[in-house]
Amino acid sequence: MAHVDRQTWDVVVVGAGGAGLRAAIEAREAGMRTAVICKSLFGKAHTVMAEGGIAASMGNVNEGDNWQVHFRDTMRGGKFLNHWRMAELHAREAPDRVWELETWGALFDRTKDGRISQRNFGGHEYPRLAHVGDRTGLELIRTLQQKIVALQQEDEREFGAYDARLKVFQESTVTRVLKTPAEPGTANGGRVCGAFCYERETGRFFVLEAPAVVLATGGIGKSFKVTSNSWEYTGDGHALALLAGAPLINMEFVQFHPTGMVWPPSVKGILVTESVRGDGGVLRNSDGKRFMFDYVPDVFKEKYAQSEEEGDRWYDDPDHNRRPPELLPRDEVARAINSEVKAGRGSPHGGVFLDVSTRMPAEVIKRRLPSMYHQFKELADVDITAEPMEVGPTCHYVMGGVEVEPDTAAARGVPGLFAAGEVAGGMHGSNRLGGNSLSDLLVFGRRAGLHAAAYAASVTDLPAPDEEQIAAAEAEALRPFLAGDEEPAAGAEPPENPYTLHQELQQAMNDLVGIIRKEGEMAEALKRLAGLRARARRAGVEGHRQYNPGWHLSLDLRNMLLVSECVARAALERTESRGGHTRDDHAAMDRNWRDINLVCELAAPHGGPPAADQIRLSRRTTPPIRPDLLELFEQEELAKYLTDEELSR
Ligand code: FAD
Repeated sequence: MAHVDRQTWDVVVVGAGGAGLRAAIEAREAGMRTAVICKSLFGKAHTVMAEGGIAASMGNVNEGDNWQVHFRDTMRGGKFLNHWRMAELHAREAPDRVWELETWGALFDRTKDGRISQRNFGGHEYPRLAHVGDRTGLELIRTLQQKIVALQQEDEREFGAYDARLKVFQESTVTRVLKTPAEPGTANGGRVCGAFCYERETGRFFVLEAPAVVLATGGIGKSFKVTSNSWEYTGDGHALALLAGAPLINMEFVQFHPTGMVWPPSVKGILVTESVRGDGGVLRNSDGKRFMFDYVPDVFKEKYAQSEEEGDRWYDDPDHNRRPPELLPRDEVARAINSEVKAGRGSPHGGVFLDVSTRMPAEVIKRRLPSMYHQFKELADVDITAEPMEVGPTCHYVMGGVEVEPDTAAARGVPGLFAAGEVAGGMHGSNRLGGNSLSDLLVFGRRAGLHAAAYAASVTDLPAPDEEQIAAAEAEALRPFLAGDEEPAAGAEPPENPYTLHQELQQAMNDLVGIIRKEGEMAEALKRLAGLRARARRAGVEGHRQYNPGWHLSLDLRNMLLVSECVARAALERTESRGGHTRDDHAAMDRNWRDINLVCELAAPHGGPPAADQIRLSRRTTPPIRPDLLELFEQEELAKYLTDEELSR
């Protein structure tokens, strides 16, 4: 084994999006020496791409808003599958997290009387999204980075080094969470003791030793062909947790955002923010019809306008009118678009039309939606102030993730492992409301940092990661070079190209486990995934370790295949349609599934590379919703969601 550099920290945060940076700030403020590691450049994360805003019930635009209303909307959006305690903490704490950003220098758009402006979004009863035009994520990341720099300046004054207590390792990837050997009383064998990493530019390996690791690695979108996600979102944190012995929950719930670009092909999937509809944009089919009025499901019938006139009046007088159905939760809108296209009423390039040009003056569009204006002008040569956009569903967000303890963000069963942001499961149930991710990552990023720090401070006897484990991680990381170099023995299979494998994986997930799912297709997907997994063990690359994207992709494939298997297995098991999981063969929501979480675990968690049938699936019943939270809903509404047993309680 080559020499592998080791450094010792108290807390290691994997990921420098909103969740990771918020966790790192909290851990450092608790006095812990904190390392942040991220795959790409510092500041480049999903969070920076977020457009519409941060959901928080500050009540600035409508005083009727409060945490209870936000909690209700979130539970309805998730079709009551959400972990109610996470939804409660999120709704209660989101306003403080937004105010806090402002004290750290964030500049939000203002109302006429100078308060933080809040905009409408699907599923939110009141205007609730604090925003900066349609570039909110940029301001969020800029503010958190500024806070980090301020903390580093404090450390320079106190210790003479900027990175004495907070250091960023950018363009570096974690491939394994390291653990101590199994100890009595720990179910999955040992505690966290560090992370194995490689530097993308040089290919150098290094180990960050620490008693606490916070996973904040974002989503899994790159397992699907059409996605709004960028190259980093290969489900690394989900896979790292599984490999460390922690379970994932709710993996069948993948959000297909209703409005991605559909044309030209090179930009297919890029997001068209929901703010377009929140600010007045409407969806039309090829007949010019506002078709969403035909797709309001029974559970939402009383809350949405029945006519275009009422929907339009709502923008100026929300207290006396119901909202337009373009603002239904995302799963409903995505399914409706899918149905229109299937029925032959789509746009020329296989989407539908989203129009703001007839709804707002050009200067308002350019002011409120500047990124959308430029995005369409530059990428599609479409002027959205004069003509409609063409849009269709795109894989956007994963509701499933690491099962965490709601108050502390501690991963179940692995002491020292924490998870926050998109990589954590439970908060959004079967479908996330727009804007609830930025608030989620602030609320639970802070909690993860706080509790990881407290945990790290309590650990006094941590053994360093053993050489054997580090050597195994190194060998695993180097395997693609061996596969690429070796002349296959007579009769042996040749090496595989990682790019080809990735394309086949994306195609399979898109076609067979996509927006509308069928039993036979998902079974076929599992077969294809098993084949791809076998071939991925022969994924080979040539060349050297200095910035070699083929090598990086070969390593990411392990993660995408693990996560895709979780999605397909759980989707096959759940015989109902709910939120982001739609079954053609089980079209209705079934109340008996309301309190069931599907849990994915690694079939053989104690080391070794994953083999066939990597994932074991089981069911876990969620804890009963606390009575005072249930009282926030009408009995008739609860009767639509809860099981008979829950209702009788
Ligand atoms: P991310 O911001 O995704 O950051 C993940 C970090 O982990 C990155 O730094 C990455 O480099 C790092 N990483 C990953 N794997 C590894 C590894 N193996 N080793 C080291 N580092 C690793 N949500 C809203 O609430 N409101 C919006 O308006 C909104 N708009 C959106 C617009 C777009 C175009 C997209 C794509 C998403 C949008 N979302 C929005 C969703 C939201 O942005 C994301 O869910 C959220 O930012 C995820 O934050 P995170 O901190 O969990 O992860």
